[in-house]
Amino acid sequence: MRKMTDIDEIGRKLLNTHKYSRDEIEIIIPKLREIDRLRNEKDAVIMAHYYQIPPIQLIADRVGDSLALALAGHDSYLNGRLIISSTVYFMAEMIKILNPKSKVVIPDTKASCSIAEGMNVSTVMRIRESYPDSSIVAYINTTAEVKSVVDVVCTSANADTIIKNMDGNPIILIPDYFFAKNIVKRITDDRKGRRYLAYKMIRDGNIVLEDLDSCREETIPLDKTDMPLLPEGTCIVHKRFTPVDIYEYKRLGVVDTIIAHPEVSPAVAEEVDMVGGTNKMISHLRDHPEFKRILFITECDMAAPLREAFPEREFFTPCRLCDYMRKNNLDNLANSLINEEYEVTVDPDIAYGARRSLERMLELTGF
Ligand code: SF4
Repeated sequence: MRKMTDIDEIGRKLLNTHKYSRDEIEIIIPKLREIDRLRNEKDAVIMAHYYQIPPIQLIADRVGDSLALALAGHDSYLNGRLIISSTVYFMAEMIKILNPKSKVVIPDTKASCSIAEGMNVSTVMRIRESYPDSSIVAYINTTAEVKSVVDVVCTSANADTIIKNMDGNPIILIPDYFFAKNIVKRITDDRKGRRYLAYKMIRDGNIVLEDLDSCREETIPLDKTDMPLLPEGTCIVHKRFTPVDIYEYKRLGVVDTIIAHPEVSPAVAEEVDMVGGTNKMISHLRDHPEFKRILFITECDMAAPLREAFPEREFFTPCRLCDYMRKNNLDNLANSLINEEYEVTVDPDIAYGARRSLERMLELTGF
């Protein structure tokens, strides 16, 4: 059985986030003690994404970005245990697929993701029929069903490597158009003379793809009954940032560097010093101790791990929160431990296909 967690220490860390008052922390602390007690009683593991509220990140056994959560599939400590996935649904599915012997539960099944809702299997199959020699690369923010019919999965931490190592022409990136544009722009060498297409949206009953070099659109008709839930696969949080969010900080000269997640629009990416996923942000700041005042353009609760990793630096953000990630809270986290709900299950055939795409990603990135 694991050691009891130092909940008072978590209380001190919460105070340092400057996000919670002492009164609020007094309400949070007993909830954390109860979660810790239940976790020990059930020998369960809590896994949380970096965009969860700070108390969840601090009580969790594992905190990470999508790649780190996927890599947990190779951690034998987890397999067979009850896993509370305090994440969004596609991540919980991925944890289940990679830890098939574990019971995986999610505190709220409505914790979805606008990127995942913007793509479905029918759309992928129509793209596949139209480009039979292509490789279809799916961003990790996709459902298990979509992962099961693509060639490989990628994350913000490894997309460049994956794309460079795939065969096929064209390379087609789905479903996040902004992410695809920002990533392919970085690949200036080793393009192998082939085309790179990005899924853009569903418009007038057609799948719209864009050639990322010529910016020309190519369309494929899609049956009305086959439409994805949302007409495009972008992130509702990152697409709300605009260059205007950055201009004022630049004009006042109050920050040393500006970093952004690749899900922001290309117009925002143009204005910043470094574009990279969550772990790349952390390693970039580790490599640059001279940056003391940092503007970060990503989900607001990413401030917690950044402040934890670099307590002596100052972080600024035009704060935007993800409503999907906020579906999880301390109350439904405790409930998921008590009642072991809501269980995440994946059809075996879908799990088999999705696991193949995830393992291809891990293989191409040397894991
Ligand atoms: S922040 Fe964006 S990408 Fe992440 S879960 Fe929310 S909607 Fe999806």
